[in-house]
Amino acid sequence: MNKKYLITGGSGFIGSAMIRRLVKDKDNHVVNIDKLTYAANLESLSAIKNFKNYSFFKYDICNFEKLNEVFINFQPEIIIHFAAESHVDRSIFAPKNFMESNIIGTYNLLELCRKHSENKNIIFHHISTDEVYGDIKDGLPSSEEDAYRPSSPYSSSKAASDHLVRSWHRTYGIPIFITNCSNNFGLFQNKEKLIPKVINNIINNKDIPVYGDGKQTRDWLYVDDHIDGILKVIEKGSIGETYNLGGNNEITNIDLIKQIIELTNKLKNGSDKDLDRMMKLITYVKDRPGHDTRYAINNQKVKSLGWKIKNTFQHNLEKTIKWYMNEEK
Ligand code: NAD
Repeated sequence: MNKKYLITGGSGFIGSAMIRRLVKDKDNHVVNIDKLTYAANLESLSAIKNFKNYSFFKYDICNFEKLNEVFINFQPEIIIHFAAESHVDRSIFAPKNFMESNIIGTYNLLELCRKHSENKNIIFHHISTDEVYGDIKDGLPSSEEDAYRPSSPYSSSKAASDHLVRSWHRTYGIPIFITNCSNNFGLFQNKEKLIPKVINNIINNKDIPVYGDGKQTRDWLYVDDHIDGILKVIEKGSIGETYNLGGNNEITNIDLIKQIIELTNKLKNGSDKDLDRMMKLITYVKDRPGHDTRYAINNQKVKSLGWKIKNTFQHNLEKTIKWYMNEEK
């Protein structure tokens, strides 16, 4: 589908993967708006930054006037809204930015869709998280109809933005999609996030902090599969609907960390040589306040559109570890 895409937060982990994908097709035009917070990674776009079908504006989505200029000059047809403060730990210590970027920023974009939708409809695709469903403990994986029970300032700000998006559809008829994804992993992720942090600490022989008993369970989705899912929803989804995009890959944090240690050791040494030393880097620390024990989502609805995961978790994890090992050289 050749279109004019406005990507917000396109210099972050998932947004940059989307931009790298979209600009490959010379008939697509892509504008990236990003404030370039600590989470942005310019390296993630260095290979494509001079493409003729790509432009970048260092704007804050809380700045309505600047966004309005982009809407007037570029006239986007599809907005894929990734921009958000996304780190749960940071949201606990400094929640204000989360309220501003995640709620007010989303409100600004929705209002601009409304203002500029007179002659043509602009599709608004909102990227959200499985964390809005809260802690499911031993329950079934969350489905799209389940109630929202967010636990952290991060997840409650994302839940609030999801509600805004749905209500702008219902009240003003803005054509929207919402996708709620599980934990992403892959290349170019910020080093504060679990998988890159563990790999980097192993390589640099640093302690690997594990919250509480490490038994929290998360469902992992490879970032390229996530991009396929978003594009599938835009192509085949029903306007106004929500789709859960999960990797069907539940694992406890401690088991994931041990798996990363084993794989990193194998890739580095070709044997179990250093395994004991690496395992001893695991250091249990005081649990995060309000830490949910389990998230998991049912992805049947998006699968019914024809989306599927391409490679195994093990394959993607190995690819990711190799990439970070190379980065650290
Ligand atoms: P990220 O933190 O890597 O990137 C976010 C990007 O948004 C950064 O480049 C940052 O500079 C930009 N940004 C933040 N506030 C902004 C503002 N006010 N104006 C303009 N730009 C701003 O995040 P990510 O991991 O790529 O996540 C993208 C989206 O996916 C987020 O909405 C997040 O809630 C959601 N999500 C991510 C995951 C995950 O595992 N990474 C899981 C579920 C949902």
